[in-house]
Amino acid sequence: MKRLIYGSQATADLGPDQLIDLLAKARASNEQNGLSGMLLYCSQSFLQVLEGDEDALAETYQRIRADRRHTNLRLLLDAEVSQRLFPDWSMGFDHVDDDELAEELPGYTPATLYPLMNPDLITNGKVAETLLTLYAKNKVR
Ligand code: FAD
Repeated sequence: MKRLIYGSQATADLGPDQLIDLLAKARASNEQNGLSGMLLYCSQSFLQVLEGDEDALAETYQRIRADRRHTNLRLLLDAEVSQRLFPDWSMGFDHVDDDELAEELPGYTPATLYPLMNPDLITNGKVAETLLTLYAKNKVR
């Protein structure tokens, strides 16, 4: 089983209807493909973790990469794992606001243009994984 994390920049600010539509389709497809994960959206940028069977993951990531709703994808983690971090979710989601992110992520500056994409802020997959797990736990609470 593999885990993959990437950051990307939305090509336009997505409204609630667009996010709901994106998530509904992603969840249906992930369920069918046995994938789980979590998606964060903040200040027009995405951070997503996906985990599951290698082939299903590669096929889905290819579709995601081709999606014109975002650009500048930066792969932060591509690792073989033995356990899922998000076993219950076909795709967890949080629309994070700037203040909240500033509390969770030391060094975060709300004025930063693309915070979840900023290479100085999220330097590797482990930092991204910790952040995504933190938001997943907050949601469950
Ligand atoms: P189609 O539905 O045929 O669409 C083709 C292209 O049209 C897309 O690439 C996109 O550029 C555009 N498009 C499609 N729908 C819309 C829309 N409502 N508004 C504007 N443009 C649109 N898919 C998953 O299966 N699992 C995921 O976990 C997942 N996560 C995603 C995370 C992000 C941040 C984004 C932006 C997309 C995600 N998707 C996910 C959606 C994925 O990128 C594909 O759009 C989807 O899987 C359908 O693929 P398709 O080839 O059938 O595309």
